[in-house]
Amino acid sequence: MRVAGLGDLGEDVIETARKIVKEGLGPICDNCLGRQFAKISSGLSNAKRGQILKEVLRTKWNLGEEIELQGKCWVCNGLFENLDEWVLKALEALRGYEFDSFLVGTKVSGMLLENEELIWEIAGASYAEPLKAELNREIGKRIERETGKTVDFERPDLVVLLNLWTEKVELQVNSVFIYGRYRKFERGIPQTRWLCRECRGRGCEKCNYTGKMYPESVEELISSSILAAFKGKYMVLHGCGREDIDARMLGSGRPFVVEIKEPKRRNVDLRMLEDKVREENAGKLEVTGLQYVKREMVAQIKSAKADKTYRVGVRIKPKVPEKDLENALNTLTGAVIEQRTPTRVLHRRADMVRRRKVHSAKLISFDESVFFMEIRCDGGLYIKELVSGDGGRTKPNLSELLGTDAEVKELDVMDVFYCCT
Ligand SMILES: [Zn+2]
Ligand SMILES: [Zn+2]
Repeated sequence: MRVAGLGDLGEDVIETARKIVKEGLGPICDNCLGRQFAKISSGLSNAKRGQILKEVLRTKWNLGEEIELQGKCWVCNGLFENLDEWVLKALEALRGYEFDSFLVGTKVSGMLLENEELIWEIAGASYAEPLKAELNREIGKRIERETGKTVDFERPDLVVLLNLWTEKVELQVNSVFIYGRYRKFERGIPQTRWLCRECRGRGCEKCNYTGKMYPESVEELISSSILAAFKGKYMVLHGCGREDIDARMLGSGRPFVVEIKEPKRRNVDLRMLEDKVREENAGKLEVTGLQYVKREMVAQIKSAKADKTYRVGVRIKPKVPEKDLENALNTLTGAVIEQRTPTRVLHRRADMVRRRKVHSAKLISFDESVFFMEIRCDGGLYIKELVSGDGGRTKPNLSELLGTDAEVKELDVMDVFYCCT
């Protein structure tokens, strides 16, 4: 027999449907009956397919009595008759959140999972769609209708989780990611919050009960200016490398991505935020080129090997003739430096030898015992050690080339060569 909407497998399908109705544990709703044959025909909802099947069983197989059974569907326990209740719960949870896209997910309770297995024992599962797939779709359609927002399987702003165990709707709010560059005009500010070494963040006398080594960080300064605009929980800064705490970050700035966790707003004017950061951190910090990006950008930026340009002030003792200095910098230009992990970071970094190239080293100014140079090199080269030699752990080094003690007195990062597009 061929039944409209059920395709050529009509007879097979009706036989299975008859079995479900005869052997089932009670009344079954249109959705749950129709869903067992979801893979057979397209263009019909499960509910509609269920209705058609019931009609056939009633008229052709005389199963009127079984089909008229009153009460909750034994498979879904009445879930599909109460979709509106779940939609209301979802809308309530979504209230106050700005979003363009969402996705519905379901945590199915143990009882419903068992019921699903039971019906598949009777009917087989080869044409069936899982209960949660239908529930996600049906609730999703209704939320789309109510809110005008769209379901997005790839990158939803929010995930609406129907927890059938607790009968509550949980919301998973995905982060907002913003790319930009920061410039730091003041020394002594770390990139991210640095926990107190003594108390590890709990607060002690040494850190004045702040739990931190430094009162502020680039991360906290940016956060205090922009987090409120997104009404987020907190913000994490991912930098494309980091400068020393006592180094300024000048030039075009250092690329970063900030991740705003659990934001209630996601469409904020980024130019306005740049202005806000500039105003609130005048002379200290600035961010430029802010743009919304995808999560992947975090990994990209963290693994990027970006060349750097530094402006370095060096103190030398005893002093050397300018000509010697020129020669030493010429020798460094193009040299590959073998650098063992600096003594000063050995407590937190593995002891190993890095090879990094100096692309150029130019003298900018020279004055008795202090000179300034501009140096462009591979990312990851430690400049302080390139100058001092770190007791022979960095080779070649400026101190050795000059035959005098050399020490970095001032360090600024002028450029980080990284292009995100
Ligand atoms: Zn049902
Ligand atoms: Zn402390």
